[in-house]
Amino acid sequence: MQDPEVPLYPHYRYVCIVNTTSTSCFIHTFGCQMNQADTEIVTSILQDAGYARTSREESASIILLNSCAVRENAVDRIGNFLQQLKGRKRRQKGLVIGVIGCVPQFEREAFFSAYPFVDFVAGPDTYRALPSMIGSAFGGQRIASLEYDHREIYSGIEPVREGRISTFLPVMRGCNNHCAFCVVPVTRGRERSVPLRSVVDEVSKLATSGFREVTLLGQNVNSYRDSSGSADFAALLDAVSLAAPQLRIRFTTSHPKDISEDLVRVIAERPNLCNHIHLPVQSGSTRMLELMKRGHTRDEYLRRIGMILRHIPDAAITTDLIAGFCTETEADHRDTLSLMKEVRFDASFMFYYSVRPGTWADRNLEDDVPEAVKKARLQEIIELQNVISQERYRGEVGNVVEVLAETESKRSSLQLMGRTGTNRAVVFDRGRFNPGDLVSVKITDATSATLSGTPVDAE
Ligand code: SAM
Ligand code: SF4
Repeated sequence: MQDPEVPLYPHYRYVCIVNTTSTSCFIHTFGCQMNQADTEIVTSILQDAGYARTSREESASIILLNSCAVRENAVDRIGNFLQQLKGRKRRQKGLVIGVIGCVPQFEREAFFSAYPFVDFVAGPDTYRALPSMIGSAFGGQRIASLEYDHREIYSGIEPVREGRISTFLPVMRGCNNHCAFCVVPVTRGRERSVPLRSVVDEVSKLATSGFREVTLLGQNVNSYRDSSGSADFAALLDAVSLAAPQLRIRFTTSHPKDISEDLVRVIAERPNLCNHIHLPVQSGSTRMLELMKRGHTRDEYLRRIGMILRHIPDAAITTDLIAGFCTETEADHRDTLSLMKEVRFDASFMFYYSVRPGTWADRNLEDDVPEAVKKARLQEIIELQNVISQERYRGEVGNVVEVLAETESKRSSLQLMGRTGTNRAVVFDRGRFNPGDLVSVKITDATSATLSGTPVDAE
């Protein structure tokens, strides 16, 4: 996805925490929305242990890196960041450094011994232990807590939410799929769902406390099952959309092999369920999809797209694409380009393949596409997506769209930035509006990533 005003998968954000005895904590968050939601849980756990927020990283006594291991360059970024911290650790007596999340969970002891100046590491299932780990680290101990707890859903912990308008709500954790390229089943463990009643209660609470939008999160939301076994994700969406009709509701991520007609029907029926479906395809070649162990063919994917558009003709469909997976030929790559032209994705997250140690692909396939070829194919994919997005976005010029205003625009305080239900970024003249307002905006211009316009009712 090219340079939208607010990227859907931002690379990193931070929060700061400080306790009353001036022991302060700064958290850098790398990776996906699930990591951002986890940082809000970690913030809550640390606040309950007596810490409070500060905005001064330089005065922090504890630095936490909430890490992402999905791609090699994400892991490299953590490594580079740690190298910068190494000097500070030497200079600042008593500084405690912790790395949490997917990288230590994935690399385990190798990671801990590679960075001897890191005081503790914790995996996604052990965040409740962070206060005691920090205490031990101040006492001079090095600790790794990387156990899996396949029941941990952090119930009873009230996340300290960073946003006031739009927020994330994990409805499940972990992944039971075995996509050949992916580390997530190792880093985040087995699937487990948050009970339907808890999700509905939390969504109602968000609505009454002034939030305007929530994104329900899971690696594969279609695997959602209430503990009673009776409710699937379509039933969950049905329940939350009725419980908070004034709240916009989004979700991510759906898996193409599991997305059901029931789910699409409920989205079509309910005005507060956004008409945006993120449906990662990874490749347009059935041969690649088989090697990737995605569980569906190109034709099956296209049939699912047809089914979605039959129920929701104006749905925006976005995707993830990987260029240069093992053995990918020029013909496979052309299949990806032709699938993109056929579906005309609204936007895509596009990556070149990087081997993740220990995955099925690493153990069984050769990473035989030269890096230069991977990058050239990725570039072609990006360029095609830009053309398609630009055409689709330009098709909105002259239309009036409903936008939830989120923030001031990066470029001017006289403009606001928000999103349509289809998840398109829109920048518009502020007029009398404020973040949190739902605004009807007439679109006057478009790039491949952002629409711009003026409110219809500017007075
Ligand atoms: N659960 C989601 C699904 O199944 O579509 C995907 C979650 S994964 C964190 C996000 C995206 O990262 C994937 O859809 C894939 O495109 C990309 N990805 C994962 N492993 C990768 C790898 N080894 N190399 C390149 N991209 C990768
Ligand atoms: Fe990874 Fe596949 Fe699970 Fe998505 S569904 S998190 S790509 S294993």
